[in-house]
Amino acid sequence: MRVVVTGGAGFLGSHLCERLLAEGREVVCLDNLITGATDNIAHLREPKFLFIHHDVTNYIYVEGRVDYVLHFASPASPIDYLELPIQTLKVGSLGTHKALGLAKAKGASFLLASTSETYGDPLVNPQPEDYWGNVNPIGPRGVYDEAKRFAEAMTMAYHRYHGVDTRIVRIFNTYGPRMRAHDGRVVPAFINQALHDEPITVFGDGQQTRSFCYVSDLIEGIYRLMLSGETDPTNIGNPAEMTVLEFAQKVIELTGSKSDLVHKGLPVDDPKVRRPDITKAKRVLGWEPRVPLEEGLSKTIEYFRARL
Ligand code: UDP
Repeated sequence: MRVVVTGGAGFLGSHLCERLLAEGREVVCLDNLITGATDNIAHLREPKFLFIHHDVTNYIYVEGRVDYVLHFASPASPIDYLELPIQTLKVGSLGTHKALGLAKAKGASFLLASTSETYGDPLVNPQPEDYWGNVNPIGPRGVYDEAKRFAEAMTMAYHRYHGVDTRIVRIFNTYGPRMRAHDGRVVPAFINQALHDEPITVFGDGQQTRSFCYVSDLIEGIYRLMLSGETDPTNIGNPAEMTVLEFAQKVIELTGSKSDLVHKGLPVDDPKVRRPDITKAKRVLGWEPRVPLEEGLSKTIEYFRARL
């Protein structure tokens, strides 16, 4: 089986490439490296692994057989998509179109990496897949949220009108090794602040909630979804919900840091709650997360400590 992974040099993409290779698949990794890094894939070797430096908003040419196209290319942290708003919109729209076009031309199955951001600042908690969301299209996060919502619509259109075999995974907050220390997301931010004994920057009053999934659990869920026949969106994430303040305290405890907390302004449209309803993933994929927060966080802390 030969699999194309767009964004394959990114955080999730590189873990996915690694898993596919471990399963004996051939992998073609496409990335323009604006938020991905060759360091993430330096250990993956030819002949089963091929890296192509390419921006998937342009026509995608891949020689030979392709069985799956997994579309993971996108800036994915709020800071990244605020700095790269047009690229974020383009990769979610034009990039998804090109990746679907490749799948159609090759007779391949297609999997879209979508997001809990499709639910926006949700008025329902936890979020089941049939919740349509509460998104501000013109706010600063709209560039990501609406691009992913468009990507889902495009994916379903290719499924319905071109008969492409498609999957949509809605990914909730995921953490682990290979996140960038300064991508601005709460997990690398708090860990690196704690490791330097610098103040932990809690945005707002810290009462907003998130639910953190360790990367190996997420990849397992995605791999099962890929092999399933499920064409409607499926949430993959860890339903263990906590406040940002509780998360800060957990990071301080596990790092043994002397950091204090400092409160900063809450970003515009920052969702107040977020927690996946994973009833469907349990039923359809027999999947649920296994790695407890303390275990996953300890591994992530070790990763960042080794890079100080
Ligand atoms: N956050 C924070 N301090 C930081 C970074 C993030 O308090 O230095 C908060 C942020 O406001 C949000 C939550 O942590 O409520 C998760 O933010 P992240 O950027 O990781 O991603 P999001 O879940 O908002 O997409």
